[in-house]
This record gives sequence, C-alpha cells and structure tokens, in this order.
Amino acid sequence: MHLPSGDPRIMPLPELTGYADPLLHSQGLYIDGQWLPRRGVPVVNPSTGDTLTEIADAGIADATAAIDAAAGAAPGWRATPARHRAEILRRWFHLMTEHADALATLISLENGKTLADARGEVAYAAEFFRWYSEEASRIQGEYRRTPSGSHTILVDHEPIGIAVLITPWNFPAAMAARKIAPALAAGCTVVLKPALETPLTACAMARLGEEAGVPPGVVNVLTTQSPGELTNAMLADARVRKLSFTGSTSVGRLLLAEAGRHVISCSMELGGNAPFIIMDDADLDAALDGAMVAKMRNAGEACTAANRFYVQAGIHDAFVEGLTARMARLRVGAGYDPRTQCGPMITPAAVQKIDRLVSSAVRHGAQATTGGAPLQGPGFFYPPTVLVNVPAAAAISQEEIFGPVAPVYRFDTEDEMVTMANNTEYGLAAYLYTRDIPRAMRLGKRLETGMLGINRGLVSDPAAPFGGVKQSGLGREGGVTGILEFTEPKYYAVDF
Ligand code: NAD
Repeated sequence: MHLPSGDPRIMPLPELTGYADPLLHSQGLYIDGQWLPRRGVPVVNPSTGDTLTEIADAGIADATAAIDAAAGAAPGWRATPARHRAEILRRWFHLMTEHADALATLISLENGKTLADARGEVAYAAEFFRWYSEEASRIQGEYRRTPSGSHTILVDHEPIGIAVLITPWNFPAAMAARKIAPALAAGCTVVLKPALETPLTACAMARLGEEAGVPPGVVNVLTTQSPGELTNAMLADARVRKLSFTGSTSVGRLLLAEAGRHVISCSMELGGNAPFIIMDDADLDAALDGAMVAKMRNAGEACTAANRFYVQAGIHDAFVEGLTARMARLRVGAGYDPRTQCGPMITPAAVQKIDRLVSSAVRHGAQATTGGAPLQGPGFFYPPTVLVNVPAAAAISQEEIFGPVAPVYRFDTEDEMVTMANNTEYGLAAYLYTRDIPRAMRLGKRLETGMLGINRGLVSDPAAPFGGVKQSGLGREGGVTGILEFTEPKYYAVDF
C-alpha cells in the first residue's frame, strides 16, 4: 500500500483485478510483424511510483528496420482495395471493444487516469477505427473543366507514403488510433513512436491490429528513451513522407524545424490553454456539469482541458460556490480503483509544475477555495483545486496547467472577456455557456480557437475535425478531413 494516508479522500490500493487478458501482454518492439522482446526501460505506475514492467529501448538500427518494414509493406498495402482495408479496420474496432475492460485497466495502470476515463478513452479510440473503416472507401476525387475550357482537370488523392506517428502519454490509445486509422484507411504504412510513459497501451493496440489482420510491416511500433535521435533519423530517411505529431508545442516546434530540412508534410496537434466562458444568462447547473467535464476529464491532463474560467460578474459567486463544492467532493486515489474520481498526475515533475503555478498565483493574490498544495506520495497526487481572484498576468493564465486546478476570473463585458480569452499563444479549444445562441455564434467568431463547445464541456468526436489555430497546431485529425492529411492530391491535365 503506497498511497498517501491521512486525507479522507485518498482510498487504499485495490487488488489489481481484470488485467488477465493475455492478448494485451505483448511488449517489445514490433517491426515487420515480429515482436522483439527486449527490456531495459522501466514503466512506472503513477498511482504508486512502482515499476510495472520494463520495455525496449529502440536505437537507430531499429528505426531503420522499422522504415524498411514500412517501405516493404507499402506497395501491397496501397494496392489493397479500400474495402478490404476497411474490413481490417472494422475488425480492429470490434477487437478494441471486446477487450475494452483489459485495455482500460492497462491505460489506468500506466497513465493513472480513472477507470471511467480509461473506458471512455477506449471507446473513443475504437471509434476512430470504425469511422475510418467507413471513410476508407469514400475518399473523393475531382473532375472539372478549366475555366478557359482548355482541358479537363482530374484530381486523385493518393496515399502520401510512409508516415511517422508520435503520440503523447495523456491519451495513449486515442491519440494512436486517431493517427493509425486514417493513415491505414488512406493506404499508408506507419511507424508509431508512443510516449515513454505509456508504451504498453500502444503495444496492446498493435497486438489487436495484428489479430485484426493488419499485414506485417503496415504498422510498426518503436519504444525508445531517445525520441529526438530516433525521430531525426527517421525524418532524414527519404522514404518517409509524413510526420503526424501530438504533444507539446515546444517539441512540435523542434520537429517542424527538423521536418522542414527534409520538406516532409507535417500534421501537428499541440498544446492548449482553453478558456471556459460563462455568461450571466447561462444555465448554472449545466455550466457546472460542463465545467467538471472540461476540467476534470483525465484529472485535467488533456490538451482540451479548461485552463481558465471566465465568469461574468452576475453569476460569478454562485459558480465559484458550486464549483468549489463539486471539486472538494471528488475522491482522489489510484486510477484503477473503481471508486476514484481523480487519479494521480503522470510524473513527480508534473506535480511540481502544478505546484509552481498555483504557489505563484497565490503569491500574487489568488486564493484557493479548495485544494492548493500537493499531496504526499508515493504516487504523484495533486488535489482538485479552485483558485479565485487570479491576476490576469499570473503564469497560470498563460501556461498549460495539465492538472486538476481551476483558476477563475471575473469579467463584466463581452469585449473584456474576448480580449482575455484570446490573450494566449494557444488556440485549440474553448467553451461558452449562454442561453442566447445568436450571441454564442457572434462571440464564437471572435474567439481564436479551432474548436468551440457551446453549452458543452466536451468537443472531441471521431467524426469532427479536431485541431487548433495559432501555436496549437497545424492540420486536423478526425472527421472527413483527417484522412486527407495522409494523402497527396495528384492532378491529371487531360485532353480527351
Ligand atoms: P511531449 O511533447 O513531451 O511528448 C510528446 C511525444 O513526443 C512523446 O512521444 C515524446 O516521447 C516525444 N518527444 C519528446 N521529445 C521529442 C523529440 N525531441 N523528438 C521527437 N519526439 C519527441 O508531450 P507530452 O508531455 O507527452 O504530452 C502533453 C502535451 O501534449 C501537452 O502539451 C498537450 O496539450 C499535448 N497534447 C495535444 C493534443 C492535441 O490534440 N492537440 C492531444 C494530446 C496532448
């Protein structure tokens, strides 16, 4: 038993049940349909700080072997009829669904998120396989006469080629699925490099893909302690044509520069700093429900997490009171304990960062109405926290908190709110609560964001284009456009 004691919200570590699915025990490098079982890098359970297991540390030679495998499989896969590719993706969806409980437990073990969140993630991840199994055979071309009538324009969307996929730890299944499914649907082969903190989920998913009938070499998985070195080597390989990255803006900038040297197409899903806006006329209970979802899904470790709550003066005090009561009631504990409502942070460094942001805001005049200081480990816990009277200039207003902390700011006018909401380098998601829909649409046009939840605390959906503006990224994942990120238009100028 390693969880902190003394806090009534902390629950004891339960027996680890439900993790007996042998299909999900594959670990190692997955190259050309072979599992290469190697060890050396510990995978830590953030609920306890203990080591769960060890995984492989791929080197440059492994990266080359993975690109060789992807290149070898590419001609066969792009020539495979779309319908056949779709059927494999569909089987992958069904396998994810059948193994959902074990997969959710695995995610919870290595990531720390609650079982409820992990189950939600598995369902969300599986849906990308279903959605892109449907889209695989619907990629549209173009046919038109030139305006001058000189000739006919035909446009075909071809698979772009070998894609390197890099994913973060916060949604280890969903971020992998959101890239693999459209890439395979488009006819591309891939090398997936999951985050070091959550490699087991990626391996389990690859194993399910294998079971679904994905041919050897179409999906390869590399786990490594040297992501920069390995990725740079892959980007320097002329056979690689696509980089699809989800992670922090700082790493995204490095990768864009590296990809630029080799003129490789990039899709970038980067950081966020979402404003959650509540107008005076909002339905208070609905806004509180939405706030809890937007803030506390994944214990705040989400790129779309509400990072700043802007509340109009007339509803401010009632909102703070309601939010404080709800946050204070949440049970903190090991992610895989079914009673837990707020799991641990991913690493001790994550707890330290949250502590730094909260302490600095408090030093500059903010007050915590609940929470406000880290919980003692082992296990990496920060309690649900609400901050009021937060100065607009505080670091917490500018940086991604990535934790269960809700800073609340009061505003009077729409103009004041829009200025504050847009005062960030990010532009991924925003949320707006008002009963006045024309007002919501009017304000929506002024908010610099890729996605806006109107009277909703959750925007993600496999059928919608997910992505941001400004420093939050380039390109969109999901929806109809997501598959086009893995294609290149080829134009035929035809004189019949
Ligand atoms: P991170 O940028 O540290 O790591 C992301 C991935 O990049 C990991 O696989 C990591 O191993 C790899 N990486 C790290 N350094 C690298 C390098 N030099 N070269 C190549 N790869 C490298 O991000 P994280 O901490 O894993 O994830 C949290 C971040 O991801 C947050 O900023 C969050 O907002 C963002 N995120 C964005 C989205 C989105 O869709 N926009 C979704 C989830 C997470």
